[in-house]
Amino acid sequence: MAENIKLEIVTPEKSVVNEEAQIVMAPGSLGEFGVLAGHTPFMTSLKIGAVRYVDKAGKERFVFVSGGFAEALPNKVTILADSAERRKDIDIERAKAALARAEERLAKEGDIDFTRARAALARAILRIRLAESARL
Ligand code: ATP
Repeated sequence: MAENIKLEIVTPEKSVVNEEAQIVMAPGSLGEFGVLAGHTPFMTSLKIGAVRYVDKAGKERFVFVSGGFAEALPNKVTILADSAERRKDIDIERAKAALARAEERLAKEGDIDFTRARAALARAILRIRLAESARL
């Protein structure tokens, strides 16, 4: 069997994933990329999206990441994310409330921080989409 790769996903608050994976797919700023053991080392920034990996038992896993950085070494992928949680830990109601708040802010006239509101909107939409994909 092919060799596994170590996957670590950390945020400033917590370690979200620290386990072996058969393959890791991540939302790079320039497009989604996949890493297998033995990959050429590289670094990239990440978009908001989902990191997908196949764990050592062969099960596909999903983790929301709100952007950050990834470093791939031949036997390890490290993801430093601004925030991250496993798909099963996403609170859909919380994400829906965040979506409503962001929409309200964006609809308001005047002095709002658009970049911040749009980023909050994107996080909420992707969390909802990812959590709902578990039900398909
Ligand atoms: P909110 O306004 O609901 O806090 P947010 O997008 O501002 O959402 P983040 O700053 O991305 O939240 O994350 C803050 C912390 O809360 C992180 O630890 C993140 O994993 C967690 N978190 C945020 N939203 C959710 C959610 N819907 N379900 C589970 N955990 C969440």
